[in-house]
Amino acid sequence: MITETSTILQHKPTNWQRKLRQAINNPVHLLELLELSDSSLAQTVITKPRFNLCVPKGYVACMRRGDPYDPLLRQVLPLKEENKQLQGFSLEPVGDTIAKKVPGLLHKYQKRVLLIATGACAIHCRYCFRQHYDYAVSPSLPNKKILDTIRADTSISEVILSGGDPLCLTDNRLTELAYSFAEISHVQRLRLHTRLPIVLPERVNEELLAWLTGTRLQPVIVVHANHPNEISNPVNKALQQLVEAGITVLNQSVLLRGINDNSSVLVALSEVLFSNQVLPYYLHQLDRVRGATHFEVSDKTAIQLLTKMREALPGYLVPKLVREIGGMPYKLPL
Ligand code: SF4
Repeated sequence: MITETSTILQHKPTNWQRKLRQAINNPVHLLELLELSDSSLAQTVITKPRFNLCVPKGYVACMRRGDPYDPLLRQVLPLKEENKQLQGFSLEPVGDTIAKKVPGLLHKYQKRVLLIATGACAIHCRYCFRQHYDYAVSPSLPNKKILDTIRADTSISEVILSGGDPLCLTDNRLTELAYSFAEISHVQRLRLHTRLPIVLPERVNEELLAWLTGTRLQPVIVVHANHPNEISNPVNKALQQLVEAGITVLNQSVLLRGINDNSSVLVALSEVLFSNQVLPYYLHQLDRVRGATHFEVSDKTAIQLLTKMREALPGYLVPKLVREIGGMPYKLPL
């Protein structure tokens, strides 16, 4: 399961680590801040959820006060609907176990391996497909077994750091990792899957840019934004810093009922991302993880939304609508 961020923070925290420590973990407190304590929403909240609440204050600042349907709030607030169990919703919806090569390393697709770099995240998304993943069995990094496995397979040209969120690791640790991969001659690209530039934009700093652009590896960052309201001024700045450093920046979103299942919202998201030179990459159908049934959008609706996006946007701003199916050699286009 996604782990507490406090376990990965240094004794003398940097600015972003301080902000991470100040994240809100109490649903009642969050409702108070948003002036929703007396709303009917308060009756539907889980006050002590299994997958705890975690949301940085900067992200809360982008939520509308007094709006129980705010699309950012709905992504993080634990609701009793999570207790609903439906057939087809499982603890492990995308086949991580069958893809495990060695502990902490998944090999799902040709030429790419994915490293579970940490179990920590800056925000806990209620629809997260890895919310039940057992991070306790992932080794600390860099790890000889993982490096030897990548070294031995010359078909691997791209290493993906995932988690949890890899940018929750310290820059010292990430520097070590990046340079270890760069020593393996057949690895050409280093990709990061991260939500931190969106939810804690202070994470994009000089130290991060230094290791990310300091090796011979071509850097790619795939950020995760679901709604245009997430793209605040600090987020604009963080994205532009990444792009100006020469990093390819893409976005992946999850299609979520009540949050972004609206073509105007999705069109606005593509537009605002591209104003920061970020290309929309994937729009994922929900991974059917236990606890997330209330977020599901039907395939029929998803395809209709994509059609409306095609009508409203140039082709390069229309993300690929896909579903991940465990064991398949690629993500299935819908
Ligand atoms: S940031 Fe990503 S890994 Fe972390 S909880 Fe959200 S979706 Fe899951």
